Amino acid sequence: MATPAPAASLTFSRQPHPAPMAAAQRAEILANPGFGTKFSDHMVSVHFDEALGWHSAEVLPYGPIALDPAAAVLHYAQEIFEGLKAYRLAGNGADGGIALFRPEANAARFNASATRLAMPTLPDGLFVAAVKELVKADKDWFPTVEGGSLYLRPFLFATEAFLGVRPSKQYRFLVIASPAGNYFKSGAPAVSLWVSDYSRAAPGGTGAAKCGGNYAASLVPTAEAFARGHDQVLFLDAVERQWIEELGGMNLFFVMADGSIVTPPLGGTILPGITRESLILLAREEGLTVREERYSLAQWRSDATSGALTETFACGTAAVVTPVGKVTSETDSFMIGSGGPGQITQKLRQRLVSIQRGEAADPHGWVHRID
Ligand SMILES: *Cc1c(COP(=O)(O)O)cnc(C)c1O
Repeated sequence: MATPAPAASLTFSRQPHPAPMAAAQRAEILANPGFGTKFSDHMVSVHFDEALGWHSAEVLPYGPIALDPAAAVLHYAQEIFEGLKAYRLAGNGADGGIALFRPEANAARFNASATRLAMPTLPDGLFVAAVKELVKADKDWFPTVEGGSLYLRPFLFATEAFLGVRPSKQYRFLVIASPAGNYFKSGAPAVSLWVSDYSRAAPGGTGAAKCGGNYAASLVPTAEAFARGHDQVLFLDAVERQWIEELGGMNLFFVMADGSIVTPPLGGTILPGITRESLILLAREEGLTVREERYSLAQWRSDATSGALTETFACGTAAVVTPVGKVTSETDSFMIGSGGPGQITQKLRQRLVSIQRGEAADPHGWVHRID
């Protein structure tokens, strides 16, 4: 689908909230934010219409939206999203300014997802501009807890009222913000994984797109993992049912005793994580060999048991790096290393977090200052 209006022609009109949350109530939330349950005072909204292109860019009071019951998204799930964090820089000469981590990478992935779901792509610069508008409007919404951030959720969905099956001609792009606590205060707890019999993505499907539909399909497998007492679900490839793909919302890395690292390759059935890509680069800079190649459940079990594999971790924006301690499938169960976070896991996590927080040099220009 063609994408008209360049971002430069879009200026955001600002409609401040007439009754923002009282400071005392906000302070209470910011001291104990949790994840994804409280939202800031504003949201960003941009409309798309096939005839008009992108239009009506606004910063609005956060609140319910009107949607026609026939809106295409409610029937055929034409919806995509992103997740990124704004945080306050701290430490070593940093001045407490606000930053985003690689927002252009989220913008590029958003457009790749849009293309897969037959949706219009955002014009250059609009994604990052929209996110910045919201962060500036709600800069008083940063958690006061150590390691807290303002989690940003940009999303795009089909709004045309039409029950025929074809791409919608109208869409709405929204960005909302939710204060988020630190996943890890000190040592990250290792998680227990359940190897699902369900598939997350098949070749030619939507596995590489960040779309709500993928998540809807992962709810039953995740509930099954929880019911069996595990923390996360692990998906194998849909064809041979032996190659490790990823978790419901995180990519995986396998650390060998010789210090080399393996991570599943991007083949269209796993989500191209920005944390994944960043960690591959950082690991290589640390002198570690990283191979993007297929790794089977059987090999993993055998390597973990023999000691050839010492660590496994999952990664994603929300939790950054999560060590894996135990893996269970229908047939058996095995431990990873000592069952706690390994040295390389902790080192890579520390490298990434210190760049994100402005405590270490940022040679790749990943940290995007907002003010
Ligand atoms: C978002 C997501 C990830 C992690 O991506 P990041 O860019 O690192 O946050 C991994 N897997 C799935 C299925 C995801 O939706």
